[in-house]
Amino acid sequence: MNSTKQHKKVRLSGNDDCCVVFCSECNVIELNLGASTVRISPESLDRLSLILNHSKARLAQMQNTSSINDTTQSVSLKRVH
Ligand SMILES: [Zn+2]
Repeated sequence: MNSTKQHKKVRLSGNDDCCVVFCSECNVIELNLGASTVRISPESLDRLSLILNHSKARLAQMQNTSSINDTTQSVSLKRVH
């Protein structure tokens, strides 16, 4: 290790288990998820945020759809008989 210089990192959001940290010297976003750290560019954070929000919406949609289908199926089965 040549460089022991401490970078100034700012926590943007989250807690110790799960947080987003910005290093202005590297211009890098760090996603800290438990023991894992993922480094991405600030531009990628935008895209990741969109992807996460889209995933959440899709998941909610799928979960709503499947429960509606279950209800519809059992209702229509009762009607048939
Ligand atoms: Zn840095």
